[in-house]
Amino acid sequence: FQVPMAINEPVKSYAPGTPERKEVLATYKDLHNTTIDIPLYINGEEIKTGDTATMSPPHDHKHILGTYHKAEKKHVQKAIETALEARKKWGNLEWEQRAAVFLKAAELIAGPYRAKINAATMLAQSKNIFQAEIDAACEFIDFLRFNVEFMTQIYKDQPSSTSGAWNRLEYRPLEGFIYAITPFNFTAIAGNLPASAALMGNTVIWKPSDSQIFSAKIIVDIFKEAGVPDGVINVVYGDPVMITDTILASPDFAGIHFTGSTHVFKDIWAKIGSNIHTYKTYPRIVGETGGKDFILAHASANTKQVSTAIIRGAFEFQGQKCSAASRVYVPKSSWADVEKHLIADLASLKMGSPEDMSNFITAVIHEGSFDKLTKYIDQAKKDTNAEIVAGGGYDKSKGYFIEPTVIVTKDPKYTTMCTELFGPVVTIFVYEDTAWEETLKLIDETSEYALTGAILSTDRYAATEATKALQNAAGNFYINDKPTGAVVGQQPFGGARASGTNDKAGSYLNLLRWVSPRTIKETF
Ligand code: GLU
Repeated sequence: FQVPMAINEPVKSYAPGTPERKEVLATYKDLHNTTIDIPLYINGEEIKTGDTATMSPPHDHKHILGTYHKAEKKHVQKAIETALEARKKWGNLEWEQRAAVFLKAAELIAGPYRAKINAATMLAQSKNIFQAEIDAACEFIDFLRFNVEFMTQIYKDQPSSTSGAWNRLEYRPLEGFIYAITPFNFTAIAGNLPASAALMGNTVIWKPSDSQIFSAKIIVDIFKEAGVPDGVINVVYGDPVMITDTILASPDFAGIHFTGSTHVFKDIWAKIGSNIHTYKTYPRIVGETGGKDFILAHASANTKQVSTAIIRGAFEFQGQKCSAASRVYVPKSSWADVEKHLIADLASLKMGSPEDMSNFITAVIHEGSFDKLTKYIDQAKKDTNAEIVAGGGYDKSKGYFIEPTVIVTKDPKYTTMCTELFGPVVTIFVYEDTAWEETLKLIDETSEYALTGAILSTDRYAATEATKALQNAAGNFYINDKPTGAVVGQQPFGGARASGTNDKAGSYLNLLRWVSPRTIKETF
């Protein structure tokens, strides 16, 4: 079980004058100036159905990047047949062969495809280059490389044997096919959800978010060039309800690998429940869903550090991370200083198109998201128990731009303290220093989600107290750091409650869900 040692892909700097900066900008221009027509991808065939929709950059929504073709029911059915057929060979291939394909994919991203996948992520998902590099290049490469190591870790786990009998565990893929649904916000997650299930010998039908199809096409090209055989990963787009219902109606549906919204995941879970008598096997249900992630500052925390954690945790990636900080608790004794730093630091940050590399914040993903976020901002402007202390401006004439917005409220249960917004809006509640224990209790009680959280404190007792009191309020808990930026292999990622099944992306725990082990006892 010897595999190349996985190390995290170093992040390139993209500093002015570097070759990577020139290359990514040139590629961005090329992709911007070419119109693409993206087919479905089933059994290695590119299928153009003629029923198309257009794609535009969120920061420049009048520009057309191209079209994609929507599936009809018959295409989804074909994808199911194809996946089942392909599984016969793929599921019986030696693990080294499957590993080699995905390690090759990692090398392709690290080298020849790096500029293209980054530029596509900048253009279609409106990430600045630093965000694109961390996501589409480094995290994607890390997932692919570390998954191979995690796989061998699993395969190595064998039962003990006695003399006269040899017991072994055979880590078989699931019986049937896997359905992967991926979100717009991470190109790495888009690639990893189908790839991790496929690495373990499964075949997959993958439905990327509509806002991600542009970069998903490049992932498809990479997987093909890396040698993923036809039929192993099939890609469909179109009416999500039709696609999901067709897939869940198949008796061979064996599992779902999902990242997206809580309500969609719950709907899918309910549908799986109502179909349960039709399946050959209990489907695996693996989902990472919403978040309403917190930062708790203790009175002992450095106020500049608190401000930086809020800005980076809440506004990097336009706040469009499941892990993004969106509610913050600051003690009264620190608030004046924290507010001063926040206002000064935010004033120096620029907003605009991702091709201008000095922009910290770009556009939110689409009009639906823009309208939802600005509705909450407008409401906060009117509400007497809320005050906007920074940002609050927005403009959708060219792109969906929303300023990093800081709301302060006197009500710890104010709407934006509890509702997942998924954008560059953070709400702060200032607590009485004497109410430390009540605040811990309050955070836990108001954590409908439990994805990430952070405590900032130089007081070891307070940090320990918070870590214990909030043990169910976050699957990823950060002491003296922002609650975002989990690195594959370093901080396994996922949470419980309404945030998901906590199957920890970026660890062997996730890959375990994609095997159905068989115990073999051989007697001599
Ligand atoms: N893994 C990312 C982080 O730690 C978040 C992934 C997500 O938004 O789904 O920030």
